[in-house]
Amino acid sequence: MTELLIQNGSVYDPINRINGEKMDIAVKDGKIVASVSETRAKKINALGMIVMPGGVDIHTHIAGSEVNTGRLIRPEDHYRDFERKTTMTRSGVGHSVPSTFTTGYRYARMGYTTVMNPSMAPLEAKHTHEELNDIPIVDKATYPLVGDWWFVLEYLKRPNIKELARHVAWMMTSTKGYALKIVNPGGLEAWGSGSNMHSLEDQIPYFCVTPREIIRGLCKVNKLLNLPHTIHVHTNNLGTPGNYVTALETMRSVEDLAENDNHAIHITHCQFSAFKGDDWRTLESGAEEVANYVNCHSHVTLDMGQIVFTSTTTMTADGPFQYNLYRLTGNKWVNQDVETETSTGIVPFRYRRRNYVHATQWSIGLELALLIKDPWKIFLTTDHPNAGPFTSYPRIIGWLMSKKAREATMKRMNPRARSRSLLSSIARELGIYEIAIMTRAGQAKALGLKDKGHLAVGADADIAIYSIDASRTDPSRDYKTVRKALKRAAYTIKNGEIVSKDGEITRNVKGATLWTNIKTSEPCEIDEDMKARFRDYWTVECENYPVAEHYLEISKPITVKAEV
Ligand SMILES: [Zn+2]
Repeated sequence: MTELLIQNGSVYDPINRINGEKMDIAVKDGKIVASVSETRAKKINALGMIVMPGGVDIHTHIAGSEVNTGRLIRPEDHYRDFERKTTMTRSGVGHSVPSTFTTGYRYARMGYTTVMNPSMAPLEAKHTHEELNDIPIVDKATYPLVGDWWFVLEYLKRPNIKELARHVAWMMTSTKGYALKIVNPGGLEAWGSGSNMHSLEDQIPYFCVTPREIIRGLCKVNKLLNLPHTIHVHTNNLGTPGNYVTALETMRSVEDLAENDNHAIHITHCQFSAFKGDDWRTLESGAEEVANYVNCHSHVTLDMGQIVFTSTTTMTADGPFQYNLYRLTGNKWVNQDVETETSTGIVPFRYRRRNYVHATQWSIGLELALLIKDPWKIFLTTDHPNAGPFTSYPRIIGWLMSKKAREATMKRMNPRARSRSLLSSIARELGIYEIAIMTRAGQAKALGLKDKGHLAVGADADIAIYSIDASRTDPSRDYKTVRKALKRAAYTIKNGEIVSKDGEITRNVKGATLWTNIKTSEPCEIDEDMKARFRDYWTVECENYPVAEHYLEISKPITVKAEV
């Protein structure tokens, strides 16, 4: 394997508290090492550049049934944005839902090396892993949807948390999942009969379980299983005016389950859950209230779900929300029910600067990121592709680092939204160190990825080098220069190999699939009673359900010891 020596770069490695120090980074056999032979190693002169760990994305829809359906219904998304085949890369299409290979190349070009697919119906696990296998270069993982799974609801009804934990352990290892995803808890099951959940106390038809019981029950399960990440929650009432109250209530619901300052819950794409007001006309930002709560509590992490003004494709397991979006827009709509597990919906969408609601949403995402004081608590995402494609990250970083960049966008947006936006009163501009936290270090830490998001000896040699001269560039003024450099990393290094140089893919390597291998006191086998119920509930036999490890092109299990 190649030995590499990255010399004289300004290193930003927040996990190890390195803030722009000029230093060398040595790489051997895919790992960061203390030193390498100066004569043997390939050298990269990073003088006048910044060096960071490879980017980590905690929430991006890149694989699985809803992503594929999104591709199917949007030929117009493909015409406008395509990539030609090169000697190194395959061709591909898609602005908001790029095809698998293109997804990997585009992340690698921006210096990202680990991405998490946040939504997988357990029944669709094989298909999801097939697509993940096809995404080159980056490491990836996927979160099974468990909040509305009939088995989960049955255990919660009894209630039997230990048995539920053993069952979830079986499902997670069977589907090669990484973390527990909960979407509109209870709402997806209710949507099966045309209704929805409107508060944490509503009762799910037939099961008589509440969203609060689902969140708390699975939070306890998460702890019993010692999973590396917390429960990953898309709140009830997402995308509904007034829903910041539900977001606060959701965070409060697990306050008492957090121990020793550990995280207990991740609220995803929080922008969509921080709306104040009674309806769309009176919509206002609830970012201040959410930020005040997060600033005073240590059990929560969030990601932004930042809007960008573009045409995109929305896709979520939140079927009832997508139905509402379809009714609002009259756009194409796909509604899907995955047997007894989850719902899903897909609707194309365009966010417009001149639209009051869209401009207010744009403001809310940035307000959250700037009002939450600790960057270890809020991460950069667009909930790709829901609020915009992941390729917009450099633009968003520009807004976070520069008030001038924010003002330039605000000048062109809806005047009423502009006058009500909190952004004009926020002077904060994030620095490179804080951006490194929000785009890699914080995300890796929240995900429990010990070898990623940092550059200490022993870490994976996943590294991004950008042509930004930290001593001469003022991101507040030169945000366009920063944006350009972030779009096309000078070097992206994956497992110690240079995979992209100046935004061109130079080497086509495969990424691994990370999954959580849960070791329980006794093996979690599925019993005869459960098998019988599989026959009653599903259209496939239980034996068809598990994804064998050899199904993953490169399997990288993270083993945890459960307390059940
Ligand atoms: Zn999402």
